[in-house]
Amino acid sequence: MTQKADVLVLSAHPDDAEFGAAGTVAKWTDEGRTVVYVICTNGDKGTSDRSLGPEELLKIRRKEQQAAAEVLGVREVIFLDHPDQGLEDTPELRKQIVRLIRTYRPRILVTSDPYRRYLWHRDHRIIGQVAMDAVFPLARDHLAYPDMLDEGLEPHKVAEILFWGADDINFRSDITGTFERKIEALRCHASQIREFKASDPVKWLKGLCRDMAKDEPFELAEGFHRVELPR
Ligand SMILES: [Zn+2]
Repeated sequence: MTQKADVLVLSAHPDDAEFGAAGTVAKWTDEGRTVVYVICTNGDKGTSDRSLGPEELLKIRRKEQQAAAEVLGVREVIFLDHPDQGLEDTPELRKQIVRLIRTYRPRILVTSDPYRRYLWHRDHRIIGQVAMDAVFPLARDHLAYPDMLDEGLEPHKVAEILFWGADDINFRSDITGTFERKIEALRCHASQIREFKASDPVKWLKGLCRDMAKDEPFELAEGFHRVELPR
């Protein structure tokens, strides 16, 4: 039987979760919380290297994601293998996510903010929206998927959703002690870091995390929009 998890992270692509939440994930696993990753697409379009075919790229990115998850102490990585740039808000995807929520029964769900304005990858928008609908009301209501009850997948109430990439940040997580692990996890995504245009990505990222912690009693932060759900 599948073990429950304290935190479920839903990411559109390999590497999104590291950019958005790796410092926070490392902090949680250090505290003994169990974290499970769900990577929704296979990431097979994420390159400007014309010598690299999609089949090869998806294998590379899967390995990179596994390595990053290991650095962060993530217990399990689930690959849903939807097509990159092809995530759609369908009844099938909603049900797939509800099934995961009812199986792992997390207190916290972490994903990308669907309401970030303008330049935001379509897959990020879609997974944020599907995750939100899956938490409320679909995973909560027993009549939403009566067939799941027959499988023993009882309704589940997630307590809290954290959205990375939010315009409207209302929660800053202290990652001063785990920033180096975030960098180490991001370095595992070598195929993506190569694509990165900043001359010194670590310096750039540290600046962002420092700005995020402005007015907080700590040095470095990851920012989220937090939604707490009624119990
Ligand atoms: Zn992405």
